Amino acid sequence: MSKNQALLARRQAAIPAGAASAYSIFVNRALGSEVWDEDGKHYVDFAAGIAVMNVGHQHPKVTEAVSRQLSRYAHVAYPVQAYEPYIEVCERLNKAAPIEDATSVLFSTGAEATENAVKIARIATGRPGIVAFTGSFHGRTNLALSLTGKVAPLRTNYAHFQPGIFHVPFPVPAHGMSEEDSLKALDYLFKSSISPDQVAAIIIEPIQGEGGYYQAPPAFVRRLREICDQNGILLIADEIQSGFARTGRFFAIEHCGVEPDLIPVGKAIGGGLPLAGVVGRRAVMDKAQPGSLGGTYAGNPLSCAAALAVFDLIEEEGLLERSHTVGGKLKAALERIAARNDLVPMGAIRGVGAMIAFEIFKERGGNVPDPDATKAVANRAREEGLLVLPCGYWGNTIRIAPALTIDDKTLEEGVARLTRALQHDTGSN
Ligand code: PMP
Repeated sequence: MSKNQALLARRQAAIPAGAASAYSIFVNRALGSEVWDEDGKHYVDFAAGIAVMNVGHQHPKVTEAVSRQLSRYAHVAYPVQAYEPYIEVCERLNKAAPIEDATSVLFSTGAEATENAVKIARIATGRPGIVAFTGSFHGRTNLALSLTGKVAPLRTNYAHFQPGIFHVPFPVPAHGMSEEDSLKALDYLFKSSISPDQVAAIIIEPIQGEGGYYQAPPAFVRRLREICDQNGILLIADEIQSGFARTGRFFAIEHCGVEPDLIPVGKAIGGGLPLAGVVGRRAVMDKAQPGSLGGTYAGNPLSCAAALAVFDLIEEEGLLERSHTVGGKLKAALERIAARNDLVPMGAIRGVGAMIAFEIFKERGGNVPDPDATKAVANRAREEGLLVLPCGYWGNTIRIAPALTIDDKTLEEGVARLTRALQHDTGSN
């Protein structure tokens, strides 16, 4: 029995199926954009820990910063007494965010960040309603799950309903939902279900993550901003997956030229250590009572030390620029793959910066999603030694979110492995 197989058996015996992993392999070590499993198999990592490892695995500056912090103190609890790394992370977030006069608060996970953004918005406006979008993903905890705009698999068999949350369709013109349709649905919602003066916030991912890497059209986001301003509603931009240079700007909402009121952040900020936060307009943030925001581990010192290294690396290694270069190379390679007629039917290649995706269809030239073929391709990629992440409202998107530090040789090797994974016919068409 291989080490991977032995660990799989132990995992199945010790851990419930609810805590699933996309692949039944077990990591031995990871470096840069490469991963080795317990049987010594090598993988090119196009998943980067779900768009977390923007600076790559084991970046020496991150490991050094964390070790240095560990040699001083690992945890003291911010609610008891504060420490400089927490303050500095917030200062740098305030500076990076496209929000005039921002302050920040730190948490540990993305779900905590979205929940707290909603809490702050409700406190600041004194209103209960929240508008979210279909296809969105905002976390697995109860309120975040209710915000999330997709039933299977997270909300299947579970009465998650938190009051005051409404969904309108996210505009994906290629799948029959135009910007106008989406705005019309919002208008209907305001007429049929909740008066806009009862809505605290509209929450949107500027580029949907789990939903399939669909970008909210910039004009649509600008119109949402206007609707918010006209009705005293706050705009929350969930940048947990799209932030931290992933799209070639620090935050993806910058592509829209819109200033949100609140930005939940997470994932890449901690360079692999658990850290999240909410950046927001001072006047909005200041409405929360002392002690109402935070948690025992929120803004852990080791995570803060890692985050400060991540902020430095984005600048020092030119990662905003590199994000565009990596994304450009990936898109060009995917266009070449899509032009071939001997591979699994794929297309709808899209992405901003290094947040890239494509879809798998039932037929060449068609647009009927094929989620089974998508799973099969992801599994074959794993066999070929490539880690990618299937996602999407229709389950037929493969997203590519490599480390922004990935070198050209590893990127090309990943593309070669992906091409091989797309070579086999799935038998579904
Ligand atoms: N919001 C977005 C946009 C996300 O992509 C995620 C995680 N995939 C979350 C929130 C939840 O983050 P976490 O898993 O850290 O709770």
